[in-house]
Amino acid sequence: MSYPHLFSPLNLGFTTLKNRSLMGSMHTGLEERNDDMKELAAYFAERARGGAGLMVTGGISPNRQGWLAPFGAKLSGRTEVSRHRNVTSAVHAEDGKICLQILHAGRYAMHPFLVAPSPVRSHISPFKPWEMSERLIRSTIDDFAHTAALAREAGYDGVEIMGSEGYLINQFIAPRSNRRTDEWGGSFSNRIRFPLEIMQKVREKTGDDFIVIFRVSMLDLVEEGSTFDEVEQLALAIEAAGATMINTGIGWHEARIPTIATMVPRGAYAWVTRQLKGKLQIPLITTNRINTPEKAEEILREGYADMVSMARPFLADPDFMVKAQAGKSAEINTCIACNQACLDHIFSGKTAGCLVNPRACRELSFPAVIHSPTPLRAAVVGAGPAGLSAATELGAQGHEVHLFEASGEIGGQFNLAKRIPGKEEFHETIRYYTSMLSKYGVHTHLNTRVSAETLLQGNYSRILIATGITPRKPDIEGIDHPKVISYTDVLTGKVIPGKSAAIIGAGGIGFDVAMYLTQPETISGSPREHYMAEWGIDPSYLNRGGITAPVRHESFRKVWLLQRSKGKMGDKLGKTTGWAHRITLRNRGVQMMSDVRYDKITDAGLHATIKGEPIIIPADHVVICAGQLPLQELYAPLMRAGARVTVIGGAREAGELDAHRAIEEGFMAARSIINNPT
Ligand code: FAD
Ligand code: NAP
Ligand code: SF4
Repeated sequence: MSYPHLFSPLNLGFTTLKNRSLMGSMHTGLEERNDDMKELAAYFAERARGGAGLMVTGGISPNRQGWLAPFGAKLSGRTEVSRHRNVTSAVHAEDGKICLQILHAGRYAMHPFLVAPSPVRSHISPFKPWEMSERLIRSTIDDFAHTAALAREAGYDGVEIMGSEGYLINQFIAPRSNRRTDEWGGSFSNRIRFPLEIMQKVREKTGDDFIVIFRVSMLDLVEEGSTFDEVEQLALAIEAAGATMINTGIGWHEARIPTIATMVPRGAYAWVTRQLKGKLQIPLITTNRINTPEKAEEILREGYADMVSMARPFLADPDFMVKAQAGKSAEINTCIACNQACLDHIFSGKTAGCLVNPRACRELSFPAVIHSPTPLRAAVVGAGPAGLSAATELGAQGHEVHLFEASGEIGGQFNLAKRIPGKEEFHETIRYYTSMLSKYGVHTHLNTRVSAETLLQGNYSRILIATGITPRKPDIEGIDHPKVISYTDVLTGKVIPGKSAAIIGAGGIGFDVAMYLTQPETISGSPREHYMAEWGIDPSYLNRGGITAPVRHESFRKVWLLQRSKGKMGDKLGKTTGWAHRITLRNRGVQMMSDVRYDKITDAGLHATIKGEPIIIPADHVVICAGQLPLQELYAPLMRAGARVTVIGGAREAGELDAHRAIEEGFMAARSIINNPT
């Protein structure tokens, strides 16, 4: 077997898990849908079939005050039990196991009835919480226990008590948010009374043969968080109070340190869990940025933890574990940690999806495999994300697919994206599609820039144009000056910019180019050590919260990042990642300027007017990152000749394009053919 540690069963005494993978809790938005949780049931059933050892639902509140948002998912009454049975029975039918996560949002709740140990507002919340009375504290403990009992009644195999990420329980534990002077605050033993009583009552109410995972915040990453000594004492007390397993929580939501984004090295936080190894008798689960079976196996083999939690990787590929077990890890659709369609959607009030998996959270509407009763011959032009997605889906349906790519490699713009420091994961998507093209026998023609004429001679029943974009060349005096270069020149290495560069355009690509141009020439230590130093994470855990002063890496290159619009730079970057890019660039000394008018480019540099003031930016190079235009020259001649053509991705519309949309459109175009085969 390829991954002996990952696939070794975990005996919990009263039950055994078939392997060491936990599909970690992740809110999808399906929890609140008014469909009796049927879509959620299909979502979990598919992941149970795909081999997850144990799964945890998104956070379900024990009462109304604990709602994350108004009318959030809650389990506090019998009427809600039957809806949850749809989930548990679907999972058990696939030989899976599932726990319900009980989450009380505390001061993170996005409604005005929020409560917390003390009336201390978090800077990420619009509301100040109400201080909990002694009576409310007691009834909330009972509510946790009641929800756990209802979860058992609904058929769950266990519960996870959410004690981390800065939610209510965590708010009691840390002095940062607990300013009480009664028996629930002050001393450490008072601050942990709330979690311990919850743990004890949950165990009392659910019996000994029920999984109770407690998620301990092992590294708060905020000032006035816990010390490691306190984490250890809490874990021991939670074990004594009857937990079956302890899961790792890293970072409060209000921490200004990225903990799961793509710039975080794989397995960067397993060391935190390892600090408790050997101190507890019950299994320890580790988490954060573990996205391949190889990394999971390494962590288990080297004794960092007893089980590995992965949440987004199961969103990206429900069959993660069965593929790993069959020795087909090259076929895993790897989560690239972009957050774009999962967390960014959730934080914008939308249902989660996945950039690399267009079926995620829509498993009922889009069954996994469809075989076409009428296979046809199709051409896909362009092997960027849109073309690859379409060709893969058409191949899976059993069509004869010819994929034409002008360059010598598949991947389109992902070949540039993967060169950005911190976006190396993007190469995994190209690797995945390489395996899929081979698996489905797609005829891939590289170095082939097809013309409309060639396509028309090819006798294709369908032609999908996925030729992507061409960079926009803005109309600025001096745009053809030798110091003007495009982002493609920079990222392909065709031009190495001098000691100073002005970037025109602060969209996703402008930010990425700024990251690329200011990356440190060398890094000291491993990527993990470098990341920890850059973000001020203290491996010796000397201070509360495990934080220390960040080490600044001022760039050797002077960079200006410019945009015409007023307001915040990079406003359209991802909600959960944009702030981290802004902090990084600021720390590297990048000058970010909005409200800029570009006047001309000369030997002296870029002449601009900023907020009405004329200046000359003395840059060696001016890098154009001013958006993109669709490349669809094949469309008109093919249509005129009567071919059946669909245009997808950037070729269809370059504005607001991203890979999520490109992959989705490729998939949808291929799926629509099954409904209109002739
Ligand atoms: P493309 O990726 O442009 O692919 C088009 C393909 O068609 C190319 O390979 C081209 O060679 C080929 N082609 C063109 N004409 C012909 C022809 N006549 N015959 C044959 N082949 C042809 N998006 C995100 O969502 N998240 C990110 O973090 C992100 N980061 C990025 C970072 C960088 C540096 C860049 C450049 C882009 C990034 N993007 C990101 C954008 C994302 O890569 C694009 O949205 C996506 O690649 C568009 O896919 P597409 O298939 O429509 O086009
Ligand atoms: P973009 O995000 O649309 O940004 C284009 C930038 O160019 C904007 O800053 C725009 O701002 C400026 N601009 C537009 N027209 C201009 C003109 N005529 N003259 C001067 N400036 C002009 O596009 P992009 O950066 O090219 O990225 C392409 C796509 O890839 C985007 O849709 C993006 O979502 C995706 N992408 C995403 C990420 C990510 O991390 N999620 C990373 C890279 C790329 P002003 O008009 O204010 O000047
Ligand atoms: Fe992973 Fe991105 Fe998919 Fe989220 S959207 S699961 S981060 S690949």
